[in-house]
Amino acid sequence: MKISETIKSVRELVNAARNAGKRIGFVPTMGALHIGHISLIETAVKQCDFVVVSIFVNPTQFGIGEDFQKYPRPLETDLEICKKAGVDVVFAPSIKEMYPNENLTWVNVEKVTESLCGKSRPSHFRGVATVCAKLFNIVAPDFAYFGQKDAQQAVVIRQMVYDLNLPVEIVVCPTVREKDGLAVSSRNQYLSRQHKKDAALIYKSLQKCRQMILAGETDVSVIIDCISKVLNQSLAIEIEYISVVDAQTLQNLTKISGKILAAIAVKIGSTRLIDNILVDTSE
Ligand code: AMP
Repeated sequence: MKISETIKSVRELVNAARNAGKRIGFVPTMGALHIGHISLIETAVKQCDFVVVSIFVNPTQFGIGEDFQKYPRPLETDLEICKKAGVDVVFAPSIKEMYPNENLTWVNVEKVTESLCGKSRPSHFRGVATVCAKLFNIVAPDFAYFGQKDAQQAVVIRQMVYDLNLPVEIVVCPTVREKDGLAVSSRNQYLSRQHKKDAALIYKSLQKCRQMILAGETDVSVIIDCISKVLNQSLAIEIEYISVVDAQTLQNLTKISGKILAAIAVKIGSTRLIDNILVDTSE
């Protein structure tokens, strides 16, 4: 496995692989790798001939007062994980390499960035879309792998790729969960043992939501009420949003129909957690 810290060297490595007729898979991450990331890497390794993982804690997607400084950066462990998973190149650039001067060009995806997390993190998706556009231009992958865990991010990236005709296919992989249902996240390590227990209510509430929809409930306000009751079983959970939206447009729904996304963001202590489920009522 090669480790590359520069745009020039990762381009050379990928070019050589492409010239050898290999299909290039790419998994962008911020590191602190866990079984969720590993599942994306394993899918990429299965579907492609040459896999690049980027590890870059992207400053432009963090807002003021968010956890950019304290975000975990266990690079050595991450490299071990990548090596074991069969990654060909880890691209781990410095901030200076990615943003050598003040960045004046941004990718603003409209509408789908306005609901859900976009409300409380107004510049987050601009940072995500911009860094992904940069990384796609640097790595030039055939396939790029994202997690359903960050459902809005996946929709935003798909929209960007579609609108800008970027020559990459986006693959979205299922959310990997702990035994109790909690979506695995690099931020879970901020949680105390009790808070981790409380956090299991997030998925429990989403499962309840799925049951209600499958049992025929179509009134979104009734469903949201029920999710909120489950979350309120813990005094430690502070709800940021509970939304039921169209899975493609991310617009709020009042009545359930078609493919819907039920998404939640909460704070437990100072840790912000998100999760979601997709339910297809047209099936
Ligand atoms: P991050 O390092 O948090 O930027 O995440 C990198 C990629 O891993 C994103 O596409 C995430 O959606 C994905 N990811 C994070 N957690 C999970 C999980 N529990 N299951 C599946 N994918 C995940």
